[in-house]
Amino acid sequence: MTLLFASNNAHKLDEVRRILPASVTVVSLRDAGLDIDPEENGATLEANSLLKAQAVWDALPQHPGLKDRIDGVFADDTGLEIAALGGQPGVCTARWAGEAHNDAANRAKALRLLLDADDRTARFRTVITLIMHGRTDRFEGIVNGHIATAEAGQAGFGYDPLFIPEGYDRTFAQLPPEVKNSISHRARALAALAAHLIKVN
Ligand code: IMP
Repeated sequence: MTLLFASNNAHKLDEVRRILPASVTVVSLRDAGLDIDPEENGATLEANSLLKAQAVWDALPQHPGLKDRIDGVFADDTGLEIAALGGQPGVCTARWAGEAHNDAANRAKALRLLLDADDRTARFRTVITLIMHGRTDRFEGIVNGHIATAEAGQAGFGYDPLFIPEGYDRTFAQLPPEVKNSISHRARALAALAAHLIKVN
């Protein structure tokens, strides 16, 4: 089975390819020769993941060769939800410190806003939307944890140097990728997607 992943994020692609079963070939937008970058203006993670998957799905008829070899399209949207900030940044996670999607500035903002916080608990939530065989399905993955008091680690991307998952004392960026990929928000959402793919095939 071949699925088109509505993303060009190399880190996400790597995670997705490691986590989904080998029977699923994952093609990125770039692999497929598609230049689609819809504005993520939905009010929720659910709306944004649907909007991304739908934009790519709707473009397929203009690429007949591609449409014939793609079984479905999926997109993900992730939010960091910090308890002391009432669940912020949530759907604004990517552009929290401005439209530039600047990971370093986003992390600096988290540290600044939590400077005096006693409660540093947070969670990552990923929503995946799959469009396949004329239906739309949604999968969710959550990992609980807390925000470190300083950045640590080189692996991963985004907020990984700040996020310490529950049961660990190191950030996602310090943990080996296989550990992140066994417990992360995206891993859990992808596990639900994989279970669904096994069921419908
Ligand atoms: P999006 O899902 O690509 O829109 O990402 C939303 C925001 O969450 C961006 O700032 C990403 O860098 C961040 N993000 C998404 N997934 C992860 C992750 O696995 N670890 C750390 N940050 C992430």
